[in-house]
Amino acid sequence: MKIIFATGNKNKLQEICSIMEGTGYDIITASEAGIDADPEENGESFEENALIKARAVYELSDKSSVVMSDDSGLCIDALGGEKGLLGIHSARFMGHDTSYDEKNREILKRLGDTPDEERTARFVCSAAAILPSGREIVVRETMEGVISHEIAGANGFGYDPIFYLPEFGRTSAEISPEAKNLISHRGKALRHMRAVLEEAVR
Ligand code: IMP
Repeated sequence: MKIIFATGNKNKLQEICSIMEGTGYDIITASEAGIDADPEENGESFEENALIKARAVYELSDKSSVVMSDDSGLCIDALGGEKGLLGIHSARFMGHDTSYDEKNREILKRLGDTPDEERTARFVCSAAAILPSGREIVVRETMEGVISHEIAGANGFGYDPIFYLPEFGRTSAEISPEAKNLISHRGKALRHMRAVLEEAVR
């Protein structure tokens, strides 16, 4: 059985391939399946946006494979949380052409001297799957943290250099990719999805 993953992002694809290893699924991207879908992600939640992406690919597929997608973002409580400045708008914050270094500096500026107890934040990831039958599955997982006062670390991507993990005493850009995978919103959501899928196709 094949999984068509609705993303052009190589990092995500690598992550899902390693998480799905041993399941017998062959993972390919939508473009590798000859599907060109770029729907507007105008949902009101991570779940809705993940489903919008998965449905767009499913509709164009031959419906013999599982279609999967994910939607993620950084929810900062002091900046409006899930529907706030970032949240479901994380990828669009300050425009797609602005570097993450600039975006991260802007977030730190906006938070200013906000005390640590009010700098709480979480990365959220919703993963969606549509089975050949049309059955839809959606799961959500999070990684909790605090927005740091300084940019730190060169691992990871996006908002990792300002996402401080109190239990590690470091940002998620300062821990190894393997350590991040074990605790990350996406790692957890994809492992959760793997378990639900294995149950569903039994
Ligand atoms: P998506 O690719 O449409 O799901 O958008 C995800 C947005 O959230 C982008 O702005 C990413 O940079 C950000 N994001 C999601 N997960 C992470 C992460 O693990 N580290 C840093 N930024 C992330």
